[in-house]
Amino acid sequence: MRFKELSIEALEEIIRQAGISSFRAKQILTWAYGRDARSYDEMTDIPVVVREQFALAYPFDEPEMIEKQVSTDGSRKYLLRYEDGTLVETVGLPSQDGRLTVCCSSQSGCAMGCAFCATGKAGLARSLAPGEIVDQVMVVARDFGERVTNVVVMGQGEPFANYDNVLAALRIMNHPKLLNIGARHITVSTCGIVEGIRRFATEPEQFTLAVSLHAARQEVRDSIMPTLRRTRVGELRKTLEEYVEETGRRFSFEYALMDGVNDSDEDLKELVSYCKRLLCHVNLIQLNEVEGSSYRRVSREKVERWQEALEEAGIAASIRRSRGADIAGACGQLAASQGNTAQ
Ligand code: SF4
Repeated sequence: MRFKELSIEALEEIIRQAGISSFRAKQILTWAYGRDARSYDEMTDIPVVVREQFALAYPFDEPEMIEKQVSTDGSRKYLLRYEDGTLVETVGLPSQDGRLTVCCSSQSGCAMGCAFCATGKAGLARSLAPGEIVDQVMVVARDFGERVTNVVVMGQGEPFANYDNVLAALRIMNHPKLLNIGARHITVSTCGIVEGIRRFATEPEQFTLAVSLHAARQEVRDSIMPTLRRTRVGELRKTLEEYVEETGRRFSFEYALMDGVNDSDEDLKELVSYCKRLLCHVNLIQLNEVEGSSYRRVSREKVERWQEALEEAGIAASIRRSRGADIAGACGQLAASQGNTAQ
């Protein structure tokens, strides 16, 4: 097993079973994720014998940044390669107000096959280990020379298809002695895996939930998100109602408007009735067009019209600025350009 595969609890258990003082687990974690050590050699206050033991049993590896693209809007997109050659994308998004958000990936590729998504086209290579997800945040922090304030698990992959590793990664990010990113500033975005949403509602931390809806009409959703066919939009809504009841927290819907696909007046009407009496916020997105795909973005005027209609109906809605369009902004495009395909 590699070090980056360990959760906080798993490391504590290994230390306990080895009969090593329990505070060593915290020390090692702090070096790895709080002090940005790149090898056990740097962990100078850990006894050499423990370091050697760990280096043998749990090799420490770092992703290699093999490509970086900087957008005119300041966002930076990275292509990382893990020690087994797996490629993954991550994006750093600085804001004027001083926030630095990382959009990280939970899997290399994705099995969900959403028709409009470059990652979905390539299929799933593999799920990422907890430390590999955290490493993406650390790469961005290092490159910007700044603390990361927000994380959205919204890059490649379906986070709830890699639930345990994603949660283990979020706990490392959230831990006050490690990355110390507030739980409310960490968002997990699912395409609507209801079992995952139910489980997420029971977690003690106040992590935030986003759901990629993209259509409230069943037949339209089926056509663009075919793998989710067996999850009816009604069941998804009911699960989200229960999520709100259980957590008392608002979640958000992501809705990427696609010309002639999910942008009719009927789609809008259905969306309004779907969101009514649900504690949610709707993020309307102008699609990042994928090369070779027939899905086209809608006009700015149309997105604004949708926002107005939602707000008039008492539903909180905002327009998410599409960033990094000049650097293959949609997830999966950079990896696809490097020939990252499912195995
Ligand atoms: S949109 Fe998200 S869930 Fe759908 S294929 Fe792409 S990465 Fe996977």
